[in-house]
Amino acid sequence: MHMPRSTDRLDRYRAKRDFTVTAEPSGTEAPQPAGNRFVVQRHRASHLHYDLRLEGGGVLISWAVPKGPTLDPAVKRMAVHVEDHPLGYFDFEGAIPKGEYGGGDVIVWDWGTWTAAHGEDPVQAVEDGELHFDVEGEKLAGRFALVRRGAGEQWLLLHKHDEFAIPGWDPEDHPRSVKSGRTNDEVREAPTASWSHRTSWPAVTADELQALDDIRVSDAWQIGEHTLKNSPT
Ligand code: MN
Repeated sequence: MHMPRSTDRLDRYRAKRDFTVTAEPSGTEAPQPAGNRFVVQRHRASHLHYDLRLEGGGVLISWAVPKGPTLDPAVKRMAVHVEDHPLGYFDFEGAIPKGEYGGGDVIVWDWGTWTAAHGEDPVQAVEDGELHFDVEGEKLAGRFALVRRGAGEQWLLLHKHDEFAIPGWDPEDHPRSVKSGRTNDEVREAPTASWSHRTSWPAVTADELQALDDIRVSDAWQIGEHTLKNSPT
């Protein structure tokens, strides 16, 4: 089997991006031992889609899923196999500048681990056009299948009938980031608020700032009253 080194596999990814402009990782991090993480990013670019990425072969093997993954076993979702992404993309959340490739906002919609259902090698399975896998995420769980349709990059993503299947389940009903708790709108408003390499904390929301202001006002008021009551006059 021909398996290019992960650095070569990222050529297509790098060719599409200007890393002096976008905050996305350039994929130059040191190679890491084989892992089995998965991530789904909700990406509002020119068209909303979800990016499903499975760690395998030293990269994130990626599909763009326009309507997003679902736990509903009756629904087949179109998934377009896209260029491999660097492992550093795993927790990327932020804004991609307008006019750049994929310009828009990205949240880490779900993450966790995945396992090939029949122990198959993920890189080979993708080459062969069929991958059955189990995920343990915060939103997604259970067995999925990705099946290539024809000779192009169009695949179908579906959830199997298992104990984790939920009829009618819609990813749009679960809009918050599992990394920061933020929505795409909140990330767009403050894209760098929680972005720092591999560490993050939830950004302060407008409501929280208001609550903080309210506390300060009432504290000042109480201190003021206290001072009046105890003034020696
Ligand atoms: Mn995308």
